[in-house]
Order: sequence, then C-alpha cells, then structure tokens
Amino acid sequence: MTGKARGRKSIFITGGASGIGRATAKLFHGKGWFVGAFDLNETALASLAQELGNDNCITRKLDVTDKQDYENAIAAFAAETDGRMDILYNNAGIGESGWFEDIPYEATMRLVQVNFIGVLNGIYSALPLLKATPNSLCFSTSSSSATHGMPRIAVYSATKFAVKGLTEALGIEFARHGIRVADTLPGLIDTPILRNTPNRTDGTKPTEDQLKSQTKGTFRLMPPEAVAEAVWGAYGTDKTHWYVPPELVWIDRMKVFLPRYIRGKIGKSLPGSE
Ligand code: NAD
Repeated sequence: MTGKARGRKSIFITGGASGIGRATAKLFHGKGWFVGAFDLNETALASLAQELGNDNCITRKLDVTDKQDYENAIAAFAAETDGRMDILYNNAGIGESGWFEDIPYEATMRLVQVNFIGVLNGIYSALPLLKATPNSLCFSTSSSSATHGMPRIAVYSATKFAVKGLTEALGIEFARHGIRVADTLPGLIDTPILRNTPNRTDGTKPTEDQLKSQTKGTFRLMPPEAVAEAVWGAYGTDKTHWYVPPELVWIDRMKVFLPRYIRGKIGKSLPGSE
C-alpha cells in the first residue's frame, strides 16, 4: 500500500467543504474512514483538511461540471487509496428560485450542469474505482423536491428528479458490477444554500428568523448531520431512497392516491395564496 489511506475504507465527496458534504466528511472521518473532499471553495477545504488532519484526507478544488478536472481529481484520490473507492458521494449542488421565466436562461443551464451533469461526470469518472472495490456504493443527494415537482424551484426540482431516476435505474444496472446505488431526499437542511439562493422574482432571501421558525412538520429545519447519518446508513443496507426526515416518503406515496390533494397543498404554500 502506497497511498495515505493505508487500507482504510474511503469516501469521495463533492461539495465536501460545506453543509451536508462537510458534515458527512466529519462523520466518516470519525468512523475511521479516509475522506476525499472536493469543492470549488478552497478556503473552506483547507480548514476541513486542518480539522481532519492531512494524513486522513485528500482535499482538492474541483468543478464537477468539468469532466477533465473530475478525472484528474479521481486520479489524485485513487493514488491515495490504491485504486479503491468505497463510496462515491455526488453531493455538490446549487439552487435557483423564483418563477420559471424570472430565472435567466444562463442561470438555469448552470443549475442543470452542476446538479445533474456533475453527477453524470462523477459516475463516469469513478466507475472503474467503484467496480474495483467490493460492496461499493454510488450515492447522490437528490431532494424532497423530487417527491413532487415544486413550483418556484421548478428546474432545481427537475434536476433532483433526474438524480432520483438515475439512481433507480443504475441500481438495477450496476448490480451486475456489484455496485449499490442509492440517494438521499433531504427536506429543509440548515446549510448555506438556503441563505445563498436569492429568489429571482422578488430578490429576497429567507431571513434567519424565518428559517429558525421552521421547527415543526415535515419541512422543519434539520441539521446537516441528519443527512450524513443517512449516508452512513446507506452504506450498511440495500435501501434505495433515504428521506430526511423519513416521513417525507408520504408525499411520494400520497401523490399516487391523492394527486389533487397534494397539488392543492403545494399550491397553498405559495406566497400570495393564503
Ligand atoms: P451548501 O451550499 O452548504 O453546500 C454545497 C457545496 O457545493 C458548496 O460547498 C459549494 O461550493 C459546492 N459546489 C457548488 N457548485 C459546485 C461545483 N460546480 N463543483 C464543486 N462543488 C460545487 O449546501 P448543502 O445544503 O450542503 O448542499 C448539498 C446538496 O444538498 C446539494 O446538492 C443541494 O441541492 C442538496 N439539498 C440541500 C437541501 C437543504 O435544505 N440544504 C435540501 C435538499 C437537497
């Protein structure tokens, strides 16, 4: 063994510098895993490397939309893990909100590039390592907005449906390689994305008070560690979709039997509909 991982299990995380990715990096580090954290944000990556210890991780700038950059990042990771990867965690993502026509075309294209093409880049690039690692897991962050199409984040929601569909299909396809495929559908998670995504229609962002007052129900504000626990749970089982919180699954189930009721409830949650 020549790499820093020294035979430890390893996870490759995109969007690893912040929020859900960072919480996952810390949780797996705590369980004795070797962590690869990749992100656009080099400053936050440097502070993560300091927290985990340089011997226990590899951190590197990566733009998931750049296939060549992705292949180079995977090669750098493979050099530390002797060609192994126990989990690929496609987690990097961005948001866009507002009525469909208020979001500039270029911003929508970037959204699709990061949230969906970035996942495809990851899977194409990491597949040889996942194939070479017994019991490996290809895991991605979808969203609760992939239970029912969500207005005012319509394309964001569509990218997350794409990730969810890809997960289901590849779960069946990759069984022949011995690779499991799963995803998480988080509700409202307390991370910077909630604060950094302006509403293109009215220019507003949710205030701290608004976010912190979400204490009840399925869309209560939850810590990123709750999603990290789902990633950990997914490594131990064959379950495909990890809803955080688990009761989010009811939106998926109820829309089949009560589509009008669900549409009405989502419609009523829009501003100005009270
Ligand atoms: P976050 O903003 O804290 O983290 C996202 C990270 O992705 C950031 O560090 C950012 O620099 C990185 N990133 C963005 N574009 C990138 C690119 N092109 N290449 C590499 N890295 C890039 O937010 P988060 O909530 O931790 O988001 C993680 C994932 O969870 C995203 O896919 C998001 O869509 C999803 N999600 C979040 C919530 C929530 O409520 N926070 C709910 C459902 C799903």
